[in-house]
Amino acid sequence: MSFVADLEAVLGFSLITDPDITASYSKDQAPFAPSEPAAAVLLARSTEDISKALAFCSSRNIPVVTRGAGSGLSGGANADSKSLVISLEKMNQIIEIDPANQLAKVQAGVINLDLDSAVKEFGMAYLPDPASRDWSTLGGNVATNAGGMCCVKYGVTSHHVRALKVVLASGQIIEVGKATKKFMTTLDLLHLFVGSEGTLGIVTEIILNLVPRPKSPATLIATFPDIKQAAAASTDLLKYRPSMLEIIDETTLKAVEQWHPLGFEVAGSILIMQLDENFEVGDAAIATCKNHGMIDGIFSTDASDAADLIRVRKLAYPALERLGATLLDDVALPVTKIAEFVGLVQELAIDKNLTIGIFGHAGDGNMHPTIVHDHGDSEGEKRAQLAFAQIVQIAQSLGGSASGEHGIGLIKRGFVLDEVDQSIIDIQRGIKTLLDPSGILNPGKKIP
Ligand SMILES: Cc1cc2nc3c(=O)[nH]c(=O)nc-3n(C[C@H](O)[C@H](O)[C@H](O)COP(=O)(O)OP(=O)(O)OC[C@H]3O[C@@H](n4cnc5c(N)ncnc54)[C@H](O)[C@@H]3O)c2cc1C
Repeated sequence: MSFVADLEAVLGFSLITDPDITASYSKDQAPFAPSEPAAAVLLARSTEDISKALAFCSSRNIPVVTRGAGSGLSGGANADSKSLVISLEKMNQIIEIDPANQLAKVQAGVINLDLDSAVKEFGMAYLPDPASRDWSTLGGNVATNAGGMCCVKYGVTSHHVRALKVVLASGQIIEVGKATKKFMTTLDLLHLFVGSEGTLGIVTEIILNLVPRPKSPATLIATFPDIKQAAAASTDLLKYRPSMLEIIDETTLKAVEQWHPLGFEVAGSILIMQLDENFEVGDAAIATCKNHGMIDGIFSTDASDAADLIRVRKLAYPALERLGATLLDDVALPVTKIAEFVGLVQELAIDKNLTIGIFGHAGDGNMHPTIVHDHGDSEGEKRAQLAFAQIVQIAQSLGGSASGEHGIGLIKRGFVLDEVDQSIIDIQRGIKTLLDPSGILNPGKKIP
């Protein structure tokens, strides 16, 4: 018997149960993760709503899937027909901006870019910049420890979170971390919740770090005959403290050139670097690229050039999407292994007769090989899914990790034991049991 009427009585308002609507709240952007329309969707308006709902669900063993914006790429926000989805989309208030203490307090449903736009007038910035920042929520960013282009210099979301209000599965409301910049009174429980992908508690409020807004960046763009040289140059360029350092391979460049010719037809790879300080190192950076076989390079401190120079990076994924259905992978590598990784993925593409374009955050070794297959070609889709798994295995064989920023969710659980010991799984399960004894929070995700 459905739990809906009983939960509505507890909350004092209605849940969404129309299957056309619940379906749209029951899956994220991962193309091949299973999902079913949830039994109901709760549009939470307060921490107390969530507390009441979780206490109820714990008492009835009802699985709960927390949802930010559903922009995830791992199936982490996918539900099944027995679940309650708790959406944070209505909890979108910026509670406080405190420039003197360099912090902002927000509800978890605030969109990342909305916070950054709001703090601009104080001369401040919220830095973590996932490419989905104009629609992903800060709660989702915390739950997935989201990264982005500026993370090479400024770190990922976890480096910018000071404190969280979290509702545990029992309905208990706790606060971890503190508004102060430093805090040593407890174990670091804050970072236990960052990246926990909705499995340990529901984040309802967040205190985030703000920084003085960086200067408009200077941009370097350099072409190389092949990816090996570009990758070697990228590790050397890290000494200039780039605020962005991106690499693009030949397959992706060709896809961009077919769509928007930008003059990269002779390049085997390109690097794009931005600096938001130390602009005087431009000549030295060009010389560094020359030492690694650069074909051509431009360094511009003119902020108005930046958008043109980084256009090729913005077009990388959409250009591959034009070629067919895409599977965007996400792996983390030691930066010194990027070239070897790309070489092995290129061999895989030939072997499996697939197009695989590779681009990513060279500065922190976070690569996004994107597998393309024909729309509606089920055999090609199977080969693409197999290649998706093989790409993860290649990364792991080089000392890398199954995910750099998109998370484990549903689609990468099978790879976890390939890179961590069983003892780590057991510790994670112990923590999960302590915080969520009935296992109602995002069951089957993240922890194998
Ligand atoms: C075009 C595109 C570009 C992207 N670029 C990047 C990128 O550059 N970097 C990057 O890191 N990611 C990127 N992503 C992936 C995605 O945007 C991030 O994972 C983002 O952080 C998810 O936020 P969300 O609000 O959409 O969360 P959702 O997708 O709704 O949820 C993600 C996970 O977090 C959990 N969750 C959500 N909110 C909460 C909460 N309040 N409390 C507890 N758990 C919660 C969910 O249960 C789920 O497990 C991209 C996605 C797309 C579609």
